[in-house]
Amino acid sequence: MKLVFIGPPGIGKGTCAKALSQKYGIPHISTGDIFREEIAKGTELGLKVKQYVEKGLLVPDEIVIEVVKKVLQSPMCSKGFILDGFPRTLRQAEELEKIAKIDVAFLFNASVDVIIERVSGRLVCPKCGAIYNIKWRPPKKPGICDVCGTPLIRRKDDEPEVVRERYRIYEQTFAPIIEYYRRKGILVEVDAARDSSLIVADIERILAEKGLITKAL
Ligand code: AMP
Repeated sequence: MKLVFIGPPGIGKGTCAKALSQKYGIPHISTGDIFREEIAKGTELGLKVKQYVEKGLLVPDEIVIEVVKKVLQSPMCSKGFILDGFPRTLRQAEELEKIAKIDVAFLFNASVDVIIERVSGRLVCPKCGAIYNIKWRPPKKPGICDVCGTPLIRRKDDEPEVVRERYRIYEQTFAPIIEYYRRKGILVEVDAARDSSLIVADIERILAEKGLITKAL
């Protein structure tokens, strides 16, 4: 089950990827998360990519491709994977094809206004990364992470002007990638303006139809 998830920041694809990853035992690979972790740990890779990530610029293809290649060829990806945030350029998409045959590219669709509404209630745990929503998925104790007890924070990225700008950049960056997978006939669009459990159920139905899972568990 080799999947690519495409969608604007804040659309909830990370939440769906985590749910599917746990249920089917395949890793959720977010290149953004990998870079943020490496930067936080101060590794050689972290130092190399810091200048790009902090400015919101694309990390050069050679670096990203090498990282993804290493991860996808490791034993943890033997049953498949969910890629999130990669590919972002046509060259990355072409290189990915040499490493693995992608089964489905899921495109998460929702308008920018839906995303703004969704992220306005979002709280994240700065320690373990757990994500909550005041409306749909509140923590048991207000403002405190259920998993590790750390006080939750609102990300700067979740402010409406920042969301609008990131949406615009997303549309520009991913248009050729969406077109690439559409032409290959493996792009599947999902209505992401709904609760993540419904989106996950839709994805499972499609995976079952394609014979990638035996049935929705
Ligand atoms: P994300 O969390 O996916 O928005 O990624 C955060 C940042 O990591 C991006 O703004 C880029 O600087 C970098 N990044 C993540 N994935 C890629 C990629 N596939 N190609 C180039 N840069 C990337």
